[in-house]
Amino acid sequence: MALARRKAASTITPPAAGASRQATAPKPTRKRAPNRTLRSAPSESETPPIHPTLDRALRELLHRVDFPDAEILTYDDLHHWGDEAAAAFVSAGIVVPAGFATEIPCPECGDGTMVRVDRDPAGTCIAATCWGGDDPHRVRLAVDRARLWKFSLEGLASLVAASSPTVGRIEVVVADRLVLVGSAEFRGVSYEVFIARGTTWADREARIASAERLMHSPLPLVLSVDRAPVVQDWLPTRPAFGCLTTVLRWTNRGCAVRWDVLATQDAGPHPASDPCSWLSVTQAAERLLDVRSAIDLPKARARVSRAAGDSKFRTNGASGTARRIHEPSFSVWLLSERAKDLSVD
Ligand SMILES: [Zn+2]
Repeated sequence: MALARRKAASTITPPAAGASRQATAPKPTRKRAPNRTLRSAPSESETPPIHPTLDRALRELLHRVDFPDAEILTYDDLHHWGDEAAAAFVSAGIVVPAGFATEIPCPECGDGTMVRVDRDPAGTCIAATCWGGDDPHRVRLAVDRARLWKFSLEGLASLVAASSPTVGRIEVVVADRLVLVGSAEFRGVSYEVFIARGTTWADREARIASAERLMHSPLPLVLSVDRAPVVQDWLPTRPAFGCLTTVLRWTNRGCAVRWDVLATQDAGPHPASDPCSWLSVTQAAERLLDVRSAIDLPKARARVSRAAGDSKFRTNGASGTARRIHEPSFSVWLLSERAKDLSVD
């Protein structure tokens, strides 16, 4: 399978996101680029005003949890941005309960002295003995002080889904690292929107970039929690990229994904047709012959037509000789065909 991926990847053109970032001069207009406007994105004037406290808190939280081992939040961590933000995060499901701390800083000493926590039998209070300073003392506190919280990528996916016109079901692809949010129309084409955490961590390629569900997505858009992904890692899948810290904003009417901001980002999604080429059915069948043994051109043509009818990749919607096949999504389908051929051998 790894071999299949590597070989197939070499038949794919370089990522448009990287290419467009390096380009210094504007590219000539492409006659095949769809001339449709963005249907689902709200215009800037429709977006309610940003909620300054919650918006800043959200972005700082996302920044924090995009570091390894930083997803556990203590009471003080969660309340760092104020009680309103803490309540909003819990209510939105982006932080979820994660048990209780065994030690917390003594609130009376206030110098970071840690006290061991004993919960009372009713579970409403905690009691501890503090040995800090010269004067050992008992402290009693509401149990919430010892409660721990954990960032939830799945909860964030639900928030993104509720904050943007995505359709489809949320699907955890790699636990805590990659979640499919659904499909969203962007620049006139339908992307599968994923959110990813840890796109710059050392294990990113093994954990995220080669996830099967992402590999087989015809047109993926990966929204990194905070840090911009390393484009080279993602060559086989060639997703469009964005960062949630930039595009997910907390407004006075809840969260909103700012697709208009995404469109202007350097690492924003490339248009699906840029720089892709469209293939005729015969051209696509010839590509299929390269990866499948034991079939001839008429069989390959029939197979391509059938797969087009089953929406295995994107087409221009026409049939017969007018049918054109979207090259990037066809290349992704070829990966699975090549894998089948290798498994037959
Ligand atoms: Zn103390």
